[in-house]
Amino acid sequence: MTALPETKPLIYDLDLDQLTGLVQSWGEPAYRAKQIWQGIYCQLWGSAREFTPLPAGLRAKMANELRFTGLNASTVLKSSDGQTVKTLFLLPDGRAIEAVLMRYEHRQTLCISSQAGCAMGCSFCATGQMGFKRHLTSGEIVEQVLYYARMLKQEGKAVTNIVLMGMGEPFHNYENTLAAIDRLNHPDGFNLGARRFTISTVGLVPMIRKFAAEKRQINLAISLHASDDQLRSSMMPVNNRYPVAELIQACREYVDATGRRLTFEWALIQGVNDTPEQARALAALLKGMLCHVNVIPLNPTHKFAGTGSTRQRAEAFRAELDSAGIPCTVRMRRGIDIQAGCGQLATEHGK
Ligand code: SAH
Ligand code: SF4
Repeated sequence: MTALPETKPLIYDLDLDQLTGLVQSWGEPAYRAKQIWQGIYCQLWGSAREFTPLPAGLRAKMANELRFTGLNASTVLKSSDGQTVKTLFLLPDGRAIEAVLMRYEHRQTLCISSQAGCAMGCSFCATGQMGFKRHLTSGEIVEQVLYYARMLKQEGKAVTNIVLMGMGEPFHNYENTLAAIDRLNHPDGFNLGARRFTISTVGLVPMIRKFAAEKRQINLAISLHASDDQLRSSMMPVNNRYPVAELIQACREYVDATGRRLTFEWALIQGVNDTPEQARALAALLKGMLCHVNVIPLNPTHKFAGTGSTRQRAEAFRAELDSAGIPCTVRMRRGIDIQAGCGQLATEHGK
């Protein structure tokens, strides 16, 4: 009996040990698994027939037993300057996720998704507004990267940085997110250094502690956006569960345990969290911590009334933090003309 295509394992869901076990169960030697692994993650082959160095029988077995495509690129949008590319992917169950490529002079950064939708319900976020659909598998996270890596390879370029800042809360899908990073970090395969990854979290305190205990080299960013409980809870329901003081305590423990610099994300909403007083309150909260603040004007969404701060107000906020000794960078959103804000394209798709 032949299995339905959807029931075949997605090859990117397998780690090297699992792939080795599978290949051996087909009566093949273990070194074949390593060859397949390198075909996927070094050569970036995306179908069984591309594995021409392998015997035809093994290629046929791979095609019959494994899926090489879990994501179908349904919409590809390029920004007017061509430097930002956003792709809407359809999953086999009809869910939609998005990933974005941002080209800089010497960097190619991917912003990828960890879930379809998100359960955290942040009011200003297009993904939060659509609610939770499901976790992505590790392979579905990995495949977003391979898709862009193949695109870049044609230009003689490669992925240099990956941020988990697309749809979803990576620490709500902790195991699959970390498994995906491990797969992409594997020295015999894709081999992207751990320091090239950044996980962004809404602030799930137990997971921050768990992550700290693992002492990994992966960068961590915390979406703070407000420094008092009243405002933060009004924007981010998760704050009712893990209020600011508890979150900052976990952040301090993280820095102490790892010696790594934390990033705080702050989406500037005109007249809401962009005043000099709020900058001073934030500086007081972060005082003495090894950290850095990224401020970015809010990207407007349909279901949230706030607007992004002007560049002038963003600069003033940065200057206030700076004078209190907190390093801060103003980031301007890329790809606004292609709805590259988190969850915006998938929102359009769901309509
Ligand atoms: N769930 C994780 C990662 C995905 S969101 C998190 O919340 O950190 C990635 C970043 O985009 C977060 O800092 C999030 O707060 C921010 N973000 C979400 N909606 C935004 C919007 N409309 N404008 C600006 N930033 C936004
Ligand atoms: Fe989820 Fe992050 Fe959006 Fe909040 S900001 S709803 S945690 S994706």
